[in-house]
Amino acid sequence: MLKVCKFGGTSMADAQAITAVSKIVLSDNDRRYIVVSAPGKRFKQDEKVTDLLYACYREAASTGDCSKIFIKIRERFKEIVSDLGLTLDIESYLNQVEDGINRSASSDYAASRGEYLSAVVFAAKLGYTFVDTEQLVKFGEDGIFLADYTNDLISAKLKKIKNAVLPGFYGSYSDGRIKTFSRGGSDVSGAIISRAVGAAVYENWTDVNGFLTADPRIVENPKMIDCLSYKELRELSYMGANVLHPESIFPVRLAGIPINIKNTFEPSNKGTFIVAESKRPLNKDRVVTGIAGKKGFTVLAIEKSMMNGEKGFCRKILSVLEHKGVSFEHMPSGIDTLSLVISDEELSGKLEGIIHDIRNVVSPDSVEVHSGMSLIATVGHNMANRAGTAATLTAALSSSGINIRMIDQGSSELNIIVGVDSSDYEKAINAVYHAFY
Ligand code: ADP
Ligand code: ASP
Ligand code: MG
Repeated sequence: MLKVCKFGGTSMADAQAITAVSKIVLSDNDRRYIVVSAPGKRFKQDEKVTDLLYACYREAASTGDCSKIFIKIRERFKEIVSDLGLTLDIESYLNQVEDGINRSASSDYAASRGEYLSAVVFAAKLGYTFVDTEQLVKFGEDGIFLADYTNDLISAKLKKIKNAVLPGFYGSYSDGRIKTFSRGGSDVSGAIISRAVGAAVYENWTDVNGFLTADPRIVENPKMIDCLSYKELRELSYMGANVLHPESIFPVRLAGIPINIKNTFEPSNKGTFIVAESKRPLNKDRVVTGIAGKKGFTVLAIEKSMMNGEKGFCRKILSVLEHKGVSFEHMPSGIDTLSLVISDEELSGKLEGIIHDIRNVVSPDSVEVHSGMSLIATVGHNMANRAGTAATLTAALSSSGINIRMIDQGSSELNIIVGVDSSDYEKAINAVYHAFY
């Protein structure tokens, strides 16, 4: 029953947490391959090592010397190593990393060093082999992750090693330059390694008891989800439930490996299982599996009389976005209206140009911009073929005085997405939560 375990930032934050993690690993011989994140926050106002590393990169890029910020990272790792009572010569690793950042290596290189140092330290603590993912997790020149090539490399490497600690979050391009996944990407690394070694389960250890029905920072004491499908996970994590990176399902789903989310600080709790839809227990009483949401969207509402009869209208609008290199989230449409919901991150610096080009290619009657929007996704397989789910949702929002600016339901009926003003975001999530739980 081979297990791959990934431990997140809070699990690696200090010597006390790392000691708890090593007890978890050593209590089960099946836990053979351990993937770690960089040290995260020890308390609410604390700084994550990864954030400090990005700051070091910026400092080095502008002044050539990151030592003023790097000292915080240095002290952090020295304290961890000393509190763990290790004889590891961490100073020489730290000097090498600081030097690398100062010699203006890339921002990805700087960011990756938190995971690198974390894995070096934890391998020393466990007495396991440190296996660097730098030359094992590979990306093409376009930045696309090379799944099958990576799978072969990792599987060949780990075949010969019984127990190993590996850094999450990064790999490299073919020329050897370091490349990271997006933030939270150690979850993806854990999934990739699980697939490569044919794990029976991918244990993802974090600081909550499992996947909750809503973000615990918004809803007080949300219910736990015992089991959800890969598809539900994808919808919820993509839409903001950041307990797992949205791309972490692909490698494990392909191989049918269940993910078990568990709490490092309460290891006896069985946590949440994420499995194929067909293996999910049918819980007919549960209409909605979970709720998630994201802030930071803008809606472009395009109106034109007789739009519906105009062939190629949508294509022309989408080609504007394509030329600007912008992807959209949703495109709800009416008879003579079409709206584009786009994240502010995608739109940044491009809004004026997009509106200008849309006016040029389709001559609309009007293009209105609504900024400051949030999207809220209500997700669950059991919503399909069940009357009244959307009514419950909209009634809950309207009785809380929240205006729905957009609503979109996929034809698979796996989710209903509503757009609300960001000032209503927290209130809306709570309203939807209390309507279904
Ligand atoms: P790690 O550092 O272990 O990867 P993360 O901070 O990335 O941990 O993810 C865990 C956090 O995700 C939790 O502490 C919680 O605040 C947040 N979170 C947001 N939505 C959810 C949810 N639906 N279920 C559980 N946790 C959630
Ligand atoms: N340390 C990285 C981050 O903070 C990756 C991770 O924790 O998964 O985003
Ligand atoms: Mg995470």
